[in-house]
Amino acid sequence: MTARCWLFLAIFFFSVSSAASEQLTNFDDWLADFRASASAAGVSERTLSAALDGTKPLPDVITKDRRQAEFTLSYWRYMKRVNSRRVQKGISLLKTHKSLLQRVTNKFGVPAHYLMAFWGLESNFGKSFGGYRVIPALATLAYDGRRSRFFRAQLLAALKIVDNGDITLQSMRGSWAGAMGHFQFIPTTYQAYAVDFDGDGKRDIWNNMADAFASAANYLSSLGWDPKQKWGREVKLPEHFDFSEATLSDWKPLFEWNKGGVKRISGASLPNIDIKSWLVVPAGHKGPAFAVYPNFRRIMRWNNSILYAISIGHLADRLRGAGPISIARPKNYRRVSVEKVKEIQARLNSMGFSAGNPDGVVGKNTRSAIRNFQKLKNMPADGHITIKLWERVVGK
Ligand code: CA
Repeated sequence: MTARCWLFLAIFFFSVSSAASEQLTNFDDWLADFRASASAAGVSERTLSAALDGTKPLPDVITKDRRQAEFTLSYWRYMKRVNSRRVQKGISLLKTHKSLLQRVTNKFGVPAHYLMAFWGLESNFGKSFGGYRVIPALATLAYDGRRSRFFRAQLLAALKIVDNGDITLQSMRGSWAGAMGHFQFIPTTYQAYAVDFDGDGKRDIWNNMADAFASAANYLSSLGWDPKQKWGREVKLPEHFDFSEATLSDWKPLFEWNKGGVKRISGASLPNIDIKSWLVVPAGHKGPAFAVYPNFRRIMRWNNSILYAISIGHLADRLRGAGPISIARPKNYRRVSVEKVKEIQARLNSMGFSAGNPDGVVGKNTRSAIRNFQKLKNMPADGHITIKLWERVVGK
């Protein structure tokens, strides 16, 4: 190889490594660097050795990270988790824990049926905490490039929790993303909001229901939970409703929606009250519509997903005896593949609608591009992807 080739290669590798330095550092070097900063942040050498010596990245954690249900499942698939088995189980556990829940509600102002809904959907009422060792899982995600800074903070917090003696390393099991215990708290949430409710000196969200319920209630209360309000409700939209109004960026007082012809699902008028309300149509204009209130936004601060927040609110309603959501999945429903979503995004971009990176993930930009396309074509502007939309955008 000539000197010029070497020079070229050297420049090439230099530019690649400076563009993607995180990925090119090997895991062991990265871990040594992290360990030094954790030590500087006050974690004891004993904990660092026990927790980090011999740690290797866990490849299936990365696989899971790229396939989160909130991003990949349709409304119809996602909502299957609120099923009659879970509802029955929740109702029976509300009875089992009645007096404890009452005390927790009295102190933190979060009603029992909401706590039960979070418990049911986060860990299937304590049945599945996730089988991952939290520290190696978090180290894997902190080393991976997608959300390094966030997971590095979680890893440091996890080490401090062990160092503090809150839980042993062996018992610190959780989800692939390091969410732990009955309510799947990430380590920084644990540090900030976990509560010792039974007064034994430990904040035990893994084995102690008093601490677990109180910690969840304390977290929700800190997010501003309003005990006097619901999460939202299913509603009936008037004919010729302008679907571009159904978005989380625009709210109206409920009485305004009421004036505009939005009704209760029974057809009766909505309560004529001044509560901030947004309309959402998570399955598009043919699916159910929901008026959602500030508590809904608080559920989304727990997990930033509309589908998650609807599933929590709906399960909470069912635990108090409400029936299923009135609109069921259409018989001719067809799921749109990720490939088709990418095609829609690319085509919208080429038409000047700015759908963002054609990655198959439907985010804000893609939805707003779809709405603009729909308005132009006189389609209901719900920002929702269907096979019909794919046909209109991509053509056959
Ligand atoms: Ca305790």
